[in-house]
Amino acid sequence: MPRQLPVLGTAQKKVVNEDVAELTSGARTAAESLGYRYAEIERGHRFRFLFDPLRLLEQKDTIRAYAAGEDPFPKSVEIDPANSCNHHCTFCIYSSLHSKERSERMDSERLLSLVEELAELGVTSLLFVGGGEPMTHPKTVDAIELAARHGMSVGLVTNGSRVFPDLAARLKQAATYVRFSLDAADPALHASLHGNNDHHRIIANLRALAAADGPCTVGTGFFINDANVHDLVACGELVKECGANYIQYKSYSGVAVEPELHERMLSGLDQALDLDDEHFDVQIVDRIFDNGTHQVRGYSRCHWQQFKPAIGADGNVFLCAQKRTRTDAGDGIAGVIGNINNSTFAEIWRGEQRRQVLEQLVLKSCPFCVHHQQNRMLEFLTGFDAPHGKFF
Ligand code: SF4
Repeated sequence: MPRQLPVLGTAQKKVVNEDVAELTSGARTAAESLGYRYAEIERGHRFRFLFDPLRLLEQKDTIRAYAAGEDPFPKSVEIDPANSCNHHCTFCIYSSLHSKERSERMDSERLLSLVEELAELGVTSLLFVGGGEPMTHPKTVDAIELAARHGMSVGLVTNGSRVFPDLAARLKQAATYVRFSLDAADPALHASLHGNNDHHRIIANLRALAAADGPCTVGTGFFINDANVHDLVACGELVKECGANYIQYKSYSGVAVEPELHERMLSGLDQALDLDDEHFDVQIVDRIFDNGTHQVRGYSRCHWQQFKPAIGADGNVFLCAQKRTRTDAGDGIAGVIGNINNSTFAEIWRGEQRRQVLEQLVLKSCPFCVHHQQNRMLEFLTGFDAPHGKFF
């Protein structure tokens, strides 16, 4: 529920920054125009702030404890039940984990005991998303149901091909959200992008999930690239017609989108926004507007690692999800703090290996960090002591 804020008079209701933009930028860029249109639509979303980095502010107690110099257990953990995947996406950043030599699956008993263990430590949300397709593990839905019985919120990001109607019915009850990675409305385009001719099955599964009984939010994510930009509106129409709650449009982080493609993205998204109504949210990630690839890490250390580690299908526990594929790439890059196949999560968290990895972490060696904004915010919250701090 939105909080009650002081009531403004009608004359004040118009949002100031829009007027300022008109005065200062004059001829707006296409990105700016779309950004303001989106900002207005986004204010009415049922699932507002779904992808906002500042959601971390909800974790006030953990932030307070961390800022006070304690070492709290994380409240959220990402778990990869499997590195195997039945799709072969041309743009997958984790494709190296899907090779024949890798494709590990977490031991089923360990997966379930891990959920129990994390619940006991006070973890309140789990995310099942990678390194491969989570639904290629036979116990993923059991693990999600177990977590839900412990009162945890659970997210599942999947290619959707194995969310068969019987499993969809269970997920709709147990999960907090399920998001399908669906990058095309056109089956032939899907086959060329995902390396699997299973579009019809994914759409049938999406319909079944949306129609099933339960509180879980259902959405899809669309990765825009050169090959599918022409299909983004059609995909939004299809997803809406399937009964999903939202579609999220995104682009690669840290990779500059060529001006011509950027222009086509913005124009397609402008049309896609027409699909937004009280039953269907069209979500656009911020980076599409600014198309920024520049990142200077002014923070003194990685703060994010305290809040959301990732546990791989091989049992390795990583400082963050982005470290999944970077375990042996040289000084300061390795981010493995232990392995759940020979230790408990609590032992790893308090262990020597974690201490050493944190001590050796060189931020310059990290990939483009999708948690840059949270790191900047946490640097401020944990270290604010400005000489002119009374002025704001
Ligand atoms: S990639 Fe980002 S979140 Fe991960 S360890 Fe580096 S700075 Fe931290």
